[in-house]
Amino acid sequence: MHLAPQAIEHWLREDSPGSLARLWEKADRLRRKAVSDAVQMRGLVEISNFCRRGCGYCGLHVGNTLLPRYRMSRGEILDAANQAVAFGFGTVVLQAGEDSGIEADWLADVIATIKADTPLAVTLSLGERTEKELALWRRAGADRYLLRFETSDEKLFAAIHPSLPGERSDRLALLRKLQGLGYETGGGVLIGLPGQSYASLAQDIALFAELDLDMVGSGPFIPHPDTLLGRGQGPAPLPAEEQVPNTALMGYKVLALTRLVCPEANLPCTTALTTLNTDHGLETGLQRGANVIMLNLTPQQLRPLYQIYPDKSCVSEDPEQTWAHLHQTLLAMGRPPGIGPGGRKHPT
Ligand code: SF4
Repeated sequence: MHLAPQAIEHWLREDSPGSLARLWEKADRLRRKAVSDAVQMRGLVEISNFCRRGCGYCGLHVGNTLLPRYRMSRGEILDAANQAVAFGFGTVVLQAGEDSGIEADWLADVIATIKADTPLAVTLSLGERTEKELALWRRAGADRYLLRFETSDEKLFAAIHPSLPGERSDRLALLRKLQGLGYETGGGVLIGLPGQSYASLAQDIALFAELDLDMVGSGPFIPHPDTLLGRGQGPAPLPAEEQVPNTALMGYKVLALTRLVCPEANLPCTTALTTLNTDHGLETGLQRGANVIMLNLTPQQLRPLYQIYPDKSCVSEDPEQTWAHLHQTLLAMGRPPGIGPGGRKHPT
C-alpha cells in the first residue's frame, strides 16, 4: 500500500485508541493476506561482541573498555546452528559487532558447512563489511543480510554513528550493493533517538518501501549507561511536539506502518519491543504486523556480554523452556511456526 510520508507522520502522531485500533486491525489483516498466519522462527547467534565502531547508542562500541569481549569458535557456532535445526527453525542468524577479527575465509567456511550439513537459511548481520567479503559470503551460501540504517537523517546518523577515518559510512548505498549481490536484504531504524523528528521517522518508513526491503526490524532506542547517548552527551532532544518518543507504543506504530508499506516483508517483533513490554510484548507485536520471532541461541554464559542496551529481555532465557512455552503460545494464537527457510514471499 502506498502511503505518502505526510500520511505516515499523521499516523505516528495519532493517539486516539479508536484510530489506533483501526491501524492495528489493518496491519494484522494485511499481514495475514500477504504472509499468512505462519510465524517464521529464526535462531539468533551473537557470534562476537568485538566492534571497531564508536556508535553513540550501543554498548558494544569500541570505547567501552568495561565490556569483556568474546568471539565464538567454529564448533560453538555449528552447535548453535544444530540447535536451530533441532527446534525445527528454518533460519540461523549470525550476528556480531563490526569485528575485523572475523576473518572472511574462516566465516565463509562456517557458512558453507552450515549450508552443507543443515537445511537452514543463513542470515548475516555483521555491520559494514567490504564488497569483496560480502560477495565471498554470498558465494559460500549466505542467503540474507541485515543492516539497519538507524535513521535516514544524514546529520543525525553522523552524530550517532561516526564514520571511521578515511571511510564515509553509507549504509543506504551498502544495502543496494547487498541487493545487487543477490542477498535478501533487511534494514530498520532506531525509534525515539534524541533529535529524531516525526517527519524524519515518517521518511524512514517510506524509505523501507522505496528500497524494497525483504526484512525490516526496528526497535525503540533504549539508552545504555556506558554510551554517549546514555550519558546525555549526544544530540539534544527536539521540542516535545517534534521529538519522537522511544516508547513501546511508538514501536508498535512503526511496526504496523511498516506492514502497510511493505506487505510481503518479513517483520520481526524485535527484542527492544519485548524488553519494553515484557508481559505481552511478543503477542502484541504479532497482532500488529510482525511475522518473525528470533530466539536467542547464543551460549548462555556469553549472552550478558552482547549488551547493546541494558536488561535485554532474552539474556537469561533457557532456549528449550522458552521455545516450549513460545510454541504453545503460538499455537494458542492460531499462529503456527512456519516450515522451511521462510524467505520473503513475492506476490504471484
Ligand atoms: S551498533 Fe553495531 S557497529 Fe555500532 S557499535 Fe554497536 S555493534 Fe558496533
